[in-house]
Amino acid sequence: MATTPELANLFVTRHPLVEHKMSILRDRATPTKLFKELVEEIAMLMAYEATSDLPLEPITVETPLESMRGWRVSGKKLTLVPILRAGLGMVEGVLRLVPSARVGHIGLYRDHDTLEPVDYYFKVPGDVAERTFLVLDPMLATGGSAVAAVSSLKRAGATRIRFLCVVAAPAGAARMQVAHPDVPIFTAALDRELNASGYILPGLGDAGDRMFGTR
Ligand code: URA
Repeated sequence: MATTPELANLFVTRHPLVEHKMSILRDRATPTKLFKELVEEIAMLMAYEATSDLPLEPITVETPLESMRGWRVSGKKLTLVPILRAGLGMVEGVLRLVPSARVGHIGLYRDHDTLEPVDYYFKVPGDVAERTFLVLDPMLATGGSAVAAVSSLKRAGATRIRFLCVVAAPAGAARMQVAHPDVPIFTAALDRELNASGYILPGLGDAGDRMFGTR
């Protein structure tokens, strides 16, 4: 994975399969069903990258022939936290890789007066301090939702948090780095900029609408 000096906690995958899938995902002609499948596949590949340093503990395995030392991931089950609604599209893909993961949810809305994101839904499993959380949102655009979601998890006691997205904008990644320098961000692409409406350019449009067919 590549990183840049200015965005030290941002990891951008350069895997050829991800690059290939991203071009199909971005194509405006890609239909909803394929778009949803691609988001799941890319999410699974991002989760592969984001879990490469999980701690292991030794176990004994009885093969049909003899005993050997094997390994298992130590600690409490990983916890996925999609940010509603587009983050939901990444859950199945990550679960394909980590089927025993728990799934929490965070819903956010933007307060009309302060323009700041506020939780309208927050549910995660207990033992928060002992878990590793993967926060899921395909688009890291302004970073407002990502910063707020991570802040909510930290207020609940989380200390080990990683952020997974499909496309990141430099502004959102920078905002996350300032607010949460301890949270690594794993993305399939770092795009050029945001437009005046907060959409990522070149981007892929509205991820939720394309995923759920609500365009
Ligand atoms: N959310 C989206 O779905 N797309 C963007 O480009 C930015 C935010």
